[in-house]
Parts: sequence; structure tokens; C-alpha cells
Amino acid sequence: MKDLQNIILDLIETTKKHEQYRNNECINMIASEGIKSPAVCQMLDLSHDLATRYAEGDNNPEGHVKKRFYQGQKYSSQIEDHATDAIKNLFHTTWADVRLISGTHANTATFKGLAVASKNNKMVVTPLSCGAHISHDYTGLAGSILGLDNINHVYDINEFNIDPDKSAQVIRTTKPGIVTFGGSLFLFPHPIKELKEACNEAGAYIAYDAAHVLGLIAGGQFQDPLREGADFITASTHKTFPGPQGGVIMGTPDTPAKEKAVRKIQHAVFPLTASSTHLGRLPALGIACLEMKLFGQELATQIVKNAQTAGQYLYENGIKVVAEHKGFTKSHQLALDIRAFGGGNKIAQDLEDANIILNKNLLPYDDQSDKENPAGLRVGFQDVTRHGMKEGDIKHLCDLMIDIIKGKRTPEQVKTDVMTLKKEFNQVKYGFQNIEEAIKYIKP
Ligand SMILES: *Cc1c(COP(=O)(O)O)cnc(C)c1O
Repeated sequence: MKDLQNIILDLIETTKKHEQYRNNECINMIASEGIKSPAVCQMLDLSHDLATRYAEGDNNPEGHVKKRFYQGQKYSSQIEDHATDAIKNLFHTTWADVRLISGTHANTATFKGLAVASKNNKMVVTPLSCGAHISHDYTGLAGSILGLDNINHVYDINEFNIDPDKSAQVIRTTKPGIVTFGGSLFLFPHPIKELKEACNEAGAYIAYDAAHVLGLIAGGQFQDPLREGADFITASTHKTFPGPQGGVIMGTPDTPAKEKAVRKIQHAVFPLTASSTHLGRLPALGIACLEMKLFGQELATQIVKNAQTAGQYLYENGIKVVAEHKGFTKSHQLALDIRAFGGGNKIAQDLEDANIILNKNLLPYDDQSDKENPAGLRVGFQDVTRHGMKEGDIKHLCDLMIDIIKGKRTPEQVKTDVMTLKKEFNQVKYGFQNIEEAIKYIKP
């Protein structure tokens, strides 16, 4: 084995290479990865002391700090309150919890809290094969860690959505404590409104997992889950929402049942599942909230427009984009069925060789046991959009993808064009270049 000095030299060198490669040379189309503005990055850089501190304790019904167990927290407690207020303001809720270090952590605390509050271990979820996140599934967090009993929503493969009538039936007959919506392969808004009554009858809480679409919701360009009947939203703060990596839970507890749920969720955050809450990300989260308040609508509108433009263009050029009869997508994602050209595995690799980065994806009708060779690709447009691409640029990018998918040019040939295109779009738009700029915007 190498000695430590040489390991660290390699580590530093490889890290520099990674930053250059993914930030300057690749076009990123992984649907779950966001892009932070320079101001958000600068704020992270100014929060290093905060990032070394602990703030264990309890929060009150507004989500503010109530009790802390360590000294030295006169500012860090305020910082947490300010970040909580920023989220509450942006999403118009009366309660939020920003202590979650990831979306999975948000789901852990929420599913646990709601199962305790409802005294019911049954949870209705979208099948994993139809786009749910592993944390919803009996093979993942929900089943294997929390011990919840999964019951599947009925999914309509033609519509790429939950079947509202059949799922209502499932909810009415099985009477779960929790019904979840949202997912990772997530093209169309889920039928919350349509299932709200069945959930009420069953006495189930509705948890909406907005990990992927939080930025679109902030921009008003996807469904508005809380207004449509969800009790709580869980999310990552770093996918379409362009903040630092972390998680959040929010809602408006306006009934005794929801107030109880908040208490149980807070208990599930601390002491059950958190010790350090990674405080260093909170100021940066606040900056991202401001950016989304100011530019979120414009950004989210362009993201969806770009995804739909790409759907139409790829489709017209002979690529099978799923859900053609529904306009391909209403989110930041597309799903391509690429089996005719060699399958998701091969094409994702070829695209990577040309510096276009995305992931292969099982489609709902794939053999789910054949994880290594799915038919699909999942393509996300939040990153290229925030770098300033409009419809014309998106078509140009699609042309490069088509060349590779159809084998018209080798990945090595296309890579030169990809790197040229990347150079044209290397600035982050719809956000602030530094904190001074944000302050000047607020106080001109
Ligand atoms: C990504 C994702 C998560 C997990 O979020 P992390 O922040 O990566 O832990 C949870 N739910 C859904 C639907 C996701 O897509």
C-alpha cells in the first residue's frame, strides 16, 4: 500500500481533476443534481466555524429553537431560525425543519414521526419500478430500517402516473397511516387532490416527497402539494432547488392531528436520528431561498420548457421519448427508451465518453431484475438551464446526443463539440454572483 503522504497527494490531485472535469468540461444532465450559484458557494465558504459546531436540542411548534444543550449558541440558534423562516416564507408554511442533512434523512424522520402519530405502520407508496425513491420502499429505509409495511399505489404505465381511482380503492381498503407521493423518476404531478378524500377517510397523513421537484414548486411550475392537500413535504435542498446539500421538512400544522405529527417528527429528528445537523449549510440555504424567491419562477419555467423542447426534438428525430401523448413531461426530466439503440447501459457510457453525463434508468415496464441493462435513460435539464441554455441551445445539445445515440459520430468526435458548448455556458444564471450583489439587490 502507498504511504499516507502519497495517498494525500493523489487525493488533492484527483480532487482538482474532478472539479475541472465535471464543472468545466462536462455537460451535466443527472436529474438529481443541482447547481449552486457563486453567492451560495461564497456563503458556504464564510460558514466554516459554523460547520464545526453542534446544536443539539428541541424546536418549538413554529420550528424555532426552543432548547439547546451546549453553550456558545447565541448566533447559531438565530441562524437556524433565520434559515427556517426563509424556507417558511418561500413555501408559505407555518412550520419547517431545516436540521435534516439529506432528503433521505427528511424521509426517515417524517415516516417515523407519522407512523408514531398515526399509530399505524402501513404506508402506501409508489412502486420502486415506477419511480419511487428507495427510501420509500420495503427494501430500503421504509421497510428495512423503519419496519413499515409497504402497500403499493396502483400505477398506470400508459399514463406514467398513479391511477387515482384504483389507488383510492387501495387506500380505502387497507387504511394506511401514511400515503406518499413524489418520486425520483417523476414526469407528471401526482394525484393528491384526487386521493385526498380517501386519505382522510382512512385517517392517513399525506407525505409528499419533493426531493426532485422542490425548485420547480418554489418557482410555481409544478403542482403545489400543500395547497392540493399534502400534510407535509420532505425534500432535498440540492436537486432542482439550487441550495447546498441537505434536507428539509415543512407543512402548516393547522389541526391537532398535524400538530401532533410535528411533535413526533421533531422527536424523530432529534434525538432519534440526528446529532450534528451540519449547521454550516444553513446560511447558504437562506441565500438559495432568496434566489428562488426572486428568480425561481423564471428559472423553473425555462427548465420545464427546455425539457419539453428536448422531448419533442428527440422524438421528431426518432428517439423514443416516453409519454409522447402527454407532452413528454411537466417536470425537469425526460425518460428515453433507448433499447433500439443498444439500451441504457451502452448509451449512458457512450454519452459519458463524450462528456455528457446522465444515468441509465429502469423503466416501469422493464424487467426489474435486470438492473445492469435497463431500456431507459433519465435526463435532467435543471443544470443546463441554470447555465443559461434556451430552446435553441437545447436543440443543439440534442443534436450532439442524437449523433451518439445513433452512432453517427464517435463519442471522441462529439466530445470536442460538447466541450466547446460547455465553455459557452459556464456561468450560473438566475442567481447572485456574490453576497454583495445579493445585499445590493435587497438594499439598493
Ligand atoms: C434523491 C431523493 C431522495 C434522497 O435525497 P438525498 O438528499 O439524496 O438523501 C429522496 N426522495 C426522492 C424522491 C429522491 O429523488
